[in-house]
Amino acid sequence: MSQDVAEVITATDPVEIARALIRCQSVTPDEGGALIFLRELLTDAGFEAEIVRFSEEGTADVDNLFAKIGSGAPHLTFAGHTDVVPPGEECRWQHPPFAAEIDGDMLFGRGAVDMKGAVACFAAAALDYLSATGEPKGTISFLITGDEEGVSINGTRKLLAWAKERGETFDHALVGEPTNPNALGDMIKIGRRGSLSGTITITGKQGHSAYPHLAKNPMRGLAKVMHALLDEPLDTGTHEFDPSTLEVTSVDTGNPAFNVIPAEVTIRFNSRFNNLHTAESLRARVEKQVETALECSGLTGSIAFEPNAAEAFLTEAGDIAALLSETIKAETGLTPALSTTGGTSDARYIKDYCPVIEFGLVGQTMHQIDERVDIADLTALTAIYRTFLTRYFDRFGD
Ligand SMILES: [Zn+2]
Repeated sequence: MSQDVAEVITATDPVEIARALIRCQSVTPDEGGALIFLRELLTDAGFEAEIVRFSEEGTADVDNLFAKIGSGAPHLTFAGHTDVVPPGEECRWQHPPFAAEIDGDMLFGRGAVDMKGAVACFAAAALDYLSATGEPKGTISFLITGDEEGVSINGTRKLLAWAKERGETFDHALVGEPTNPNALGDMIKIGRRGSLSGTITITGKQGHSAYPHLAKNPMRGLAKVMHALLDEPLDTGTHEFDPSTLEVTSVDTGNPAFNVIPAEVTIRFNSRFNNLHTAESLRARVEKQVETALECSGLTGSIAFEPNAAEAFLTEAGDIAALLSETIKAETGLTPALSTTGGTSDARYIKDYCPVIEFGLVGQTMHQIDERVDIADLTALTAIYRTFLTRYFDRFGD
C-alpha cells in the first residue's frame, strides 16, 4: 500500500479520497487505478473486496468492485461508478481535469460530482461508522462499476447477478448519482422514467424532381408519420411521474441535391416514459402508428429500435426514503423532493433485486468542462451518509 493511501485511511477525509479518485484517469472503460485504490482503502478497513472483470463480445472488458463487511440482514449496498465521461478539450478547463486541484471552496476535476465525490463521501462515512461502532448489525457493501457512463453491458447488471450467485441478498440500495438540481438536500430519486430510442425508415423511389410521377417521394410519408407520432400525447402523467414524452431528434435523407427525389428518409426518436407504459407497449404503439401512417401514403418502411431500452420504475422503498429524507432534513434543514425526473441510471438494474433510492451531490456541472464540487458539500454529504448509516442499522438491525 502506498503512503498516500495509508494517510487517507487514517484521515477518512472525503476530500482526500475524492482527490485520489479524480487523479485516476478512469474514462470508461478504463479502470485507471480508481477501483484498485478503493479496494485497498476498504480492505484496510476490514472489508472483503474483490475486483471482478466482465467481458462480452463486441465490447471492452470492464472492471467492477464488490466489497462488503459484516454478515446477514439488513444488507445496505451503496451503488455507484468510478468511470467518468471524457474531459473534452483539456485546454479549456480552468484546472486540468485529472489534477484534482482545489481553488477557493471548490474541488475541480472530471467525476467531482458524477460521481467520484459521492463514492468518496460514502467510503468516508462507512469507515467512520465502522471505527465508531465496529462491525455493523448486518452488512454494508459497495457495488461499484466502471461501466456506467458507457454501454453499461459489463457493469452493474452483471455485478448484481454475480453477487446473487455468490449468495448475496440486498435489502436496500442507495445510489450516489448527483440527484440535487441546486443545493445539497433538494432531491431524492425514488424511481426513474424509462427510455426507448429508435430509427424509422420510410422507403420510396429515387428520381428526378421534374418527373415526380416516375419516382415515389418518401417525404410525403414523413409528414403523416410525424403527425402520428407527435399529435397525441402519450399520457398526462401520474402522481409520481411527469407526462411521458417522445421527441423526434433527427430527420435525414442524406440528399444534397435540390432536383433529386430521395430514395428514403429516416426519422430518429427518443421517448422518456413513465410507468403507465413499458418499452414493449411503446414499441407496439409506435409500430402501429407508423404502419397506419404509411398505409395511407402508399409507402413502405421499417423501424429499428435501439437495444438499450430502459423500463420505468418506482421504488417500493417508502420507509427507507422517509429515513433518508429525515436525515437530510436534520443535516441540511431542507426537505428533499421525492422525484422521478432526469435520465436513466443503474438503479434501473438494482430495482430488480431490492428497493433502491438515489441521493448524491449537486449535479450542475456534471459532464461539463470545469466539473467541480463545493468542498462544503463533500463534508455535508459525508455527514448525511454517516448519520444515515447509524439510523439505518438502528431501525432495521435486530
Ligand atoms: Zn453518474
